[in-house]
Amino acid sequence: MAFVAIRILPSQLVDQIAAGEVVERPAAVVKELVENALDAGATRIDLEIEAGGTRLVRVTDNGCGIARDELGLALSRHATSKIASLDDLESLRTLGFRGEALPSIASVARLKLTSRLPSESHGWSIACDGGEIGAERPAPHAGGTCVEVRDLFYNTPARRKFLRTERTEFAHLDTVIKNLALARSDVEFSLKHNDRRWLHLPVAVGREQQEGRIAQLCGDEFLEHARYFEREIEGLRLSGWLAAPTFSRPQADLQFTFVNGRFVRDKLLRHAVRQGYADVLFQSRQPAYVLFVSLDPKRVDVNAHPAKLEIRFRDSRLVHDFVFRTVEAVVASPVEASADAVPRLSVAGADVESRPGDSLGSGRQNTLGLDGAHAQYLPLYERLHSQASGSTARIEDRELPPLGFALAQLAGIYVLAQSADGLIIVDMHAAHERITYERMKGELEAHRVTAQPLLVPVTCKVSLAEAEAAEEFAADIERLGLSLVRRGPAEVHITAVPALLAGADVAALVRDVLGDLAGSGGARRLATAVNEVLATMACHGAVRANRKLALAEMDALLREMERTERIDQCNHGRPTWMRITIAELDALFLRGQ
Ligand code: ADP
Ligand code: MG
Repeated sequence: MAFVAIRILPSQLVDQIAAGEVVERPAAVVKELVENALDAGATRIDLEIEAGGTRLVRVTDNGCGIARDELGLALSRHATSKIASLDDLESLRTLGFRGEALPSIASVARLKLTSRLPSESHGWSIACDGGEIGAERPAPHAGGTCVEVRDLFYNTPARRKFLRTERTEFAHLDTVIKNLALARSDVEFSLKHNDRRWLHLPVAVGREQQEGRIAQLCGDEFLEHARYFEREIEGLRLSGWLAAPTFSRPQADLQFTFVNGRFVRDKLLRHAVRQGYADVLFQSRQPAYVLFVSLDPKRVDVNAHPAKLEIRFRDSRLVHDFVFRTVEAVVASPVEASADAVPRLSVAGADVESRPGDSLGSGRQNTLGLDGAHAQYLPLYERLHSQASGSTARIEDRELPPLGFALAQLAGIYVLAQSADGLIIVDMHAAHERITYERMKGELEAHRVTAQPLLVPVTCKVSLAEAEAAEEFAADIERLGLSLVRRGPAEVHITAVPALLAGADVAALVRDVLGDLAGSGGARRLATAVNEVLATMACHGAVRANRKLALAEMDALLREMERTERIDQCNHGRPTWMRITIAELDALFLRGQ
């Protein structure tokens, strides 16, 4: 390279470089401006957007405002009113602190800042075109601050090229607003796009109104399947809404984590939640949740990322374990305390919410707090029993077991049973899979896995990586009741299988297990892999569709279900059973109306 003299960069260029980190697209502009409004104590924030934010982003707030002689300063680099010392940085209570958002945005767009202090009779505004700050001019203004950003990247064509279609940019922006609005339900938000009203969220205080906002932002369905919880230890508070595993999704699009009111995309938190769901969700499914963490600001470092999306917990181990255990407990705990959480068919016109005699359930109000979640597992039997007692529609005597007695098998898949208050429908494969999984886990935890030697070893062709996994994990596989001997570069002999899985196709079972282990890679903790392997094995061990079951076998399945933890979902998060009550059937047939 030719000799080039070292020189200090001109300040506009410095800002444009910084803008590369902070202002990657219109959504980022919105995030910075709304965060400023929130820091200014606004209780109402209005957003007007044109062309996905590339033509215009205007954010108006009713916050504290900016004094005339500080307008220029607000647009200067490293000028902030939020921190003055390192101490402040370490116990940050504001969203901003770097003092670079406004100058960065102003260096790549046409910015106009208008503000009025409550004490002044009119406002002042200042314009900044590509970094050139103009003079303050008087401007009529209602109070608070309005920031207008036009023609983003007009002077940086290279960046402009990276902008996507208007629709895509608006989608990003919408996500950002969703995050901000979920974080601060105490603030009113409104959003207009191309002069059309897109969103209006009134101030929401209290659980009920907050749930209204969540339903508006995450969908009614999310809320219907979610349960609220809160829990605190050692100054670390967790609260939020976790969706049932049956509401899992193919993408991670309904996962919101907030730390001290700041939206973050934190790997540690996501990982902890994911692990909390691990037992009830299939690997490729994503849980849905809105999770708030609050703790002393001194215990987090928010200065780990220019857009402040990532953070560092000082006691990350503690946070991880607390989140993991809490989520696991909430998800595993029986849901039946609230009647509407029983897996059920929705029946149009049937009043399924208000059920006289339902002593435990009073709708969502009764969702379990964490105390309930940590209580000993309450067997299905008691849950159903306490619910059924006093129910209006009784069938026979009170002594029917909770899932009743089998009537028939339908389509080779479903077991139909009559219970005290209606019809129970069981997906036999899904239910059996969960039962097998829980039993195997129990055996494994108690170090009591029974292996059943095969009279004739089965030879199984596998891939090279799978054969390696068989060797590498030999000891762990043995603990699971499987005995494998590698017999060639890509071949293993199976000499024993877990007694619980005696009826399964062992070659297929082993191939899948080795597939799991080979796919999990060396870095993965084996503990996670083991549960995955157990799930795979359980799936193989479970009754297949179309196997004819005798009534006695079906009854045995029902009784086993009543004894099994987490029976409400199979390992893939699908429901295992449903109930249609007589009341619902009556409504379907318009009886008594
Ligand atoms: P930071 O938020 O990191 O301090 P910014 O560049 O975003 O940096 O803003 C610079 C300063 O301008 C802020 O510290 C604040 O004093 C002032 N400011 C920006 N937006 C607003 C607003 N909406 N209301 C009141 N003051 C604001
Ligand atoms: Mg800011």
